[in-house]
Amino acid sequence: TISIVVINKLGKIAAGTSTNGATHKIPGRVGDGPIAGASSYADDDVGACGATGDGDIMMRFLPCYQVVESMRQGLSPKDAAGNAIDRIKRKYPLFVGAIFAVNRHGDHSGACNGWTFQYTVRGSGMDEPQIFTIQPD
Ligand code: ASP
Repeated sequence: TISIVVINKLGKIAAGTSTNGATHKIPGRVGDGPIAGASSYADDDVGACGATGDGDIMMRFLPCYQVVESMRQGLSPKDAAGNAIDRIKRKYPLFVGAIFAVNRHGDHSGACNGWTFQYTVRGSGMDEPQIFTIQPD
């Protein structure tokens, strides 16, 4: 899965997800990728979120919608992402998944469960993308 968030010079924010689907998926399965708020979500006023992992579990929580709403309430990207992962973990302790969150200022972070997660950032002033590694709690 590739989830991408872009913030342009005018502050417009877009998010999207492309996925080849879960391993061993059945034909016709609709995963979390095309469900708004499940594997990506964006609001110009707040920021955006992208997700990857076990979509059959994660889509039940709309974690990316939740992350953006949490940031709207004042949580940092780190706390918002951690809170969304914690909520899923409470019901599915063994689920495998990850989230990254970015606010409208470009501050970003992530959280994950069941695996180590990496995401890449390329800001306007950067010559090269930078890779960030998130460890599960
Ligand atoms: N979330 C995707 C799915 O369940 C899989 C992935 O993130 O790799 O379809």
